[in-house]
Parts: sequence; C-alpha cells; structure tokens
Amino acid sequence: MPATESKSNPNVTISTKPLPNCVCKPDRKPVGPPPRSDAYHRLRKFIHLFCVAVFFALPFANLMRFDILHQRFFFFGYELWISEFSIVFFSLMFLMFIVAAMAMFYGRVYCGYLCPQMIFSEASLTLESKITRTVNKYVRWSATGRRWLSRILFYSIAALASVVLAFVFISYFVEPRDLFHRLLQLDVRTAGGLAGAATTLLTLLDFLFLRQRFCTTVCPYGYLQGMLGDGDTLIVQYRDENRECIECKKCVRICHMGIDIRTSPYQIECIHCGECIDACVDVLGRLGKQGLIHYVWGEQGEKLGTGGKSWYQKLGIRNGKRVVVLLIILCYGAGLFTALSMRQSVLVRIAPVRTAMYRLGPDGTVYNRFRLQLANRGHVQAIAQFSIEGLPGTAFSGFENAVVVNPGETVQQEFEIVAPISAHVPAGVNHFRLIATVGNEKDVFEETFITPSQDSR
Ligand code: SF4
Ligand code: SF4
Repeated sequence: MPATESKSNPNVTISTKPLPNCVCKPDRKPVGPPPRSDAYHRLRKFIHLFCVAVFFALPFANLMRFDILHQRFFFFGYELWISEFSIVFFSLMFLMFIVAAMAMFYGRVYCGYLCPQMIFSEASLTLESKITRTVNKYVRWSATGRRWLSRILFYSIAALASVVLAFVFISYFVEPRDLFHRLLQLDVRTAGGLAGAATTLLTLLDFLFLRQRFCTTVCPYGYLQGMLGDGDTLIVQYRDENRECIECKKCVRICHMGIDIRTSPYQIECIHCGECIDACVDVLGRLGKQGLIHYVWGEQGEKLGTGGKSWYQKLGIRNGKRVVVLLIILCYGAGLFTALSMRQSVLVRIAPVRTAMYRLGPDGTVYNRFRLQLANRGHVQAIAQFSIEGLPGTAFSGFENAVVVNPGETVQQEFEIVAPISAHVPAGVNHFRLIATVGNEKDVFEETFITPSQDSR
C-alpha cells in the first residue's frame, strides 16, 4: 500500500491509497482542481520559523529583556529603568491586552502558530523520527542496537538543543555576554548560573517526555483562553450537514494533541492548529469534495474567509466587547507612546537637604545644602550643567558645574549654594530656580534658599 508520512506528526504514517470504504459516486466529476491540502501546515511552518528567529533575536538585540541584575527593561531600543514605572506599566498592560484580545478574537491560534513550547515540541518529534529513520536506513545492526543508537543520538542532540534554548530563554532576564561567561565557567553557584542549569534540565525533560502534554496539563494560558473566548471566537469546527464524512479518521491520526475534532469544537486540548483541516481537505479533495473541518467564527458563525461580511467582521471585530478591548489597547498604546516620547535619557533630581536650614560661614555668608541625583539611561556619556536663576549674587560652592555621567551610571552628590548677606538676598525664605541642562534637554527645579532672620544676623 502506498504510504506517506504525516507532516504534522512524523510518527504517523498515512495511507494515500483511495480508501476502501470510500463513498464517492463514480459519476460525480471533481469541481476544479482540489484545494491545497497542506495550506495551514505550510503557513504554520513558515510562522514557526519566523517565531524562532524572533525568539532568538529579541534578547540578543536588546529588543526585549527584563534585566533582573541591572533592574532594566529593554524594550525595542529603549533601555528603561525599573524606576520608570509609567513606561514599564504601559508596556506590560499593552502586551497583556494584546495577548488577551488575541485569545478572544482568534482562540488558541497563539498555541498552534506562535508558542515556542509547541514549536520546539513539534521540532523534537520531527528530529526523533528523522534520526530513527536515518539509523534504520543506513546502519546494519540488530534492531536493539539501532534503537539504542537512535536514542543516544536523539538524547545527545536534544541535550545540546536544550542548552542553546535555555541560554536564549535566560537571556530574556540576564545580559547574554554575562550569561555566556557563566556558562563557560559552568557556574552553578550564583542565581544566574543556577537558573540556567535548572532551565536546561527542564527544557530537556520537556523535550524528551512532556512535549504537547505540557499544553493540557501545565500551561495556564490554555485555560485562560477558554475563559476569554465567546460565541464569536474563531474555532476549528467539523460540519457535516450532508453526511459526507467517509470515516477515514485521517483528521484524528494527524492531530498531535490526540483528539477527534468531530466530537466537539470546544475540547481543551485543541490548539486550533488547522492540521486536521488540511487532512480532511486532502482526503475529500481527491473525491472532488470540500473538506468538512473549518476555521469558523463561533459555533454558528460563517467560515473563515467566506461570506460578504464587512472588513472589520472579517478581522474578528464582531461585537461591542471587542471594540472596547481594542479601545483599551489603543489607550495603553497611546499612553506608552506618550511616555516614551516624553522620556529623557538623563534623569535629574535635585532636592534640598533640610537637616539644617542653613549654615553660616565665618564671614557671615549663608550656605544652603542640596542633594543631586543624575541617572544616565542613554547609550552615550552625558554632561549636566547647572545655573541659578532668581537669586542674584549666589554661586555654587564646592561643586563642579559640569557633572559627567557615563551610560548606565547613577551619580549622587551633595552641593551647597552660597550667598553673601546683601540686599539681593533678603532674610527669610527666598524662592529661586535651579536649571539643569543636559544636551538639548532642560530641567527647571523650583527651590528655596533660607537665610537667617534679621534678628539673628
Ligand atoms: S472529517 Fe474528513 S478527515 Fe476526518 S474522518 Fe471524516 S472525512 Fe476523514
Ligand atoms: S483537532 Fe485539529 S486543530 Fe485541534 S489540535 Fe487537533 S489537528 Fe489541531
């Protein structure tokens, strides 16, 4: 019997011979060429490749990393400090609502098309199958010897892949060069090294034993998606009003989640990957029929890409709830954009030190003390310069009026402003402005300068 391997699950072999219980009518002519039978499979594999590239690129290009050691959040070119609460908040809320909206609009397509766990689980299945077939083909040992060789090869490659993947994953939290040095030193003593070792081990166990079972037993996102979906969410559904199913069960055999989509479109295991759609199109296409499994907008809704609905309904915006979610995303996106555009690369803070209101010099001059904090959140060295406005005759004391601050550096120091007792600086509380200039950015601080009262002079 001619046979071909399942593209989704290499452990499955599928017959390509017309099925014995085929109910096609001989006089029925096929309507045009059969549709592509692997459309969703090819789309998924293309997206999987893209996702792997993104997964590797994000931490290494500093596009996204929660740098725990340095308390930084790298977000698409911006090096945000944890103290920049507004930006971190808007970024997290923006991403969170996008993920939630995706589940509400399109069901579990994230799991089937974008999730690294799913991508690498499928890759490990494919790898194992390829190694087994290659060993069986080229090695002339006993069956037991070939089985052991296949396992040793697979476990070795899986162990190596686990180290690489764990390294990339930890790079989302620790700077990659720092992590690489820890890896070279086989560091299992510091928190970073321990996290790397534990992640490697968990990745390996996942590859070898858990794989897609993770999605239905451990992953909370699958359950969350079930709660976010409603009657308009995109699902995969079997529809057979004309009883055309030939019971070939190819849709069941190809499903790597091990379910029969014909029993219900709401099975928690279904990740909406669409492989069963391809399988049914493949089988029934050879009989000149349409497939019986489809992406549909809710149990009663139309099939994906069909019908004359408006463009926004085709995109999944099908009720008021979805419009509200999109508006929330828009608000957080606008908040994030505003916070990023208002962001200054050098943070300047100046505050008076009032443990003593003032200090008198031997010659009767008055000193007020201030505390300066400079944080350079940019990538180049910055020089901050300061000036005093509204307090004639005063000057800085013991303070270089050009403070250099290197990238990533925080400078804290105290300085004094000194004023001679004169008519320009009256007794009591004097309001003035401290101007900090860094490049083209200017910060103005409203401060007070306190001098002794007339009685105490
Ligand atoms: S739904 Fe399609 S693939 Fe599944 S058993 Fe019926 S004919 Fe075969
Ligand atoms: S039932 Fe179909 S869509 Fe759902 S996981 Fe299985 S193959 Fe994918």
